[in-house]
Amino acid sequence: MRVLTGITTSGTPHLGNYAGAIRPAVAASRQPNVDAFFFLADYHALIKCDDPQRVAASRLEIAATWLAAGLDPEKVTFYRQSDVPEIPELSWILTCITPKGLMNRAHAYKASVDQNEARGDEPDDGVNMGLFSYPVLMAADILMFNANRVPVGRDQIQHLEMARDIAQRFNHQYGAGRDYFVLPDVQIDEDVATLPGLDGRKMSKSYNNTIPLFEGGAKALPNAIARIVTDSRAPGEAKDAEASHLFMIYKAFATPQETDHFRRELADGMGWGDAKKKLATHLETILAPMREQYVTLMDNPERIEDILQAGAAKARRLATPFMQEIREAVGLRNGT
Ligand code: ATP
Repeated sequence: MRVLTGITTSGTPHLGNYAGAIRPAVAASRQPNVDAFFFLADYHALIKCDDPQRVAASRLEIAATWLAAGLDPEKVTFYRQSDVPEIPELSWILTCITPKGLMNRAHAYKASVDQNEARGDEPDDGVNMGLFSYPVLMAADILMFNANRVPVGRDQIQHLEMARDIAQRFNHQYGAGRDYFVLPDVQIDEDVATLPGLDGRKMSKSYNNTIPLFEGGAKALPNAIARIVTDSRAPGEAKDAEASHLFMIYKAFATPQETDHFRRELADGMGWGDAKKKLATHLETILAPMREQYVTLMDNPERIEDILQAGAAKARRLATPFMQEIREAVGLRNGT
């Protein structure tokens, strides 16, 4: 079974990226019969990030994070989206068979329109064509490698349905009896929570509300945790763990027993200051060994680059001949 997932290179990787995407993906890649494709979504980053330095730094940080988290580049196809030119080429061909009405309904686009309307602005203010048509690029990412399974957060279910829709349209229009594209299935892991950020919204690189995974060293972790918003209950007062963002983060990194213990301590009146210290110590125990690997990798960007180049070559061994077939199917020169 082929599994594919990517992370946008729009900032420093955070606890949410790790618990929600990297940790389960690396675990899945170790299972037998899983052919994993993990990529750095740097074309996607350009949709929301116009700071070249941030995109460049993020590429390196996210690559080092995947590797420090245990990704085995020998086993997994690990590549940078922009090193595979067949992906944007396929994206254009898919753009030409995608109805505009389908994109009008995409959540990411609609969310921006809703925000604009709520502010009394023009509906499309600040919306670029990248944001509008990004489900097509996402479809190209997935369909290029005929992935069967795509693990995503709930917010991405609709975009994955669009990828299936686009694949079906292509197969129907150009297939002449052949299904060029596999219809990908969404994989939602019920156990993986969406981690809240420092301000209570979803932890997200583009909201600047994150707790960085490794960047900033051991000191950054307690400093960021100290900024998590908590309610005003004083030490000694019972606290509702389930309503607390701090607890949700702890839970994503703890065993059920540890989680129960923490829940009881909060109910028994542990102060938020102590709860924050406890979360910081707990995370440090888990993250410190990986951070060491991360620092070593960040000191050696050439090694990361070599790994990514080898991954791109591996990806293109599939993408190049497949793209030739697609070109031929739509009537373009075959390119060989
Ligand atoms: P951006 O702000 O650029 O969208 P992001 O930090 O929200 O970045 P993505 O790069 O879009 O994250 O997503 C990469 C992966 O990390 C996805 O699988 C997504 O579901 C997961 N992820 C992102 N944020 C969280 C979170 N707060 N909790 C759990 N998983 C998350």
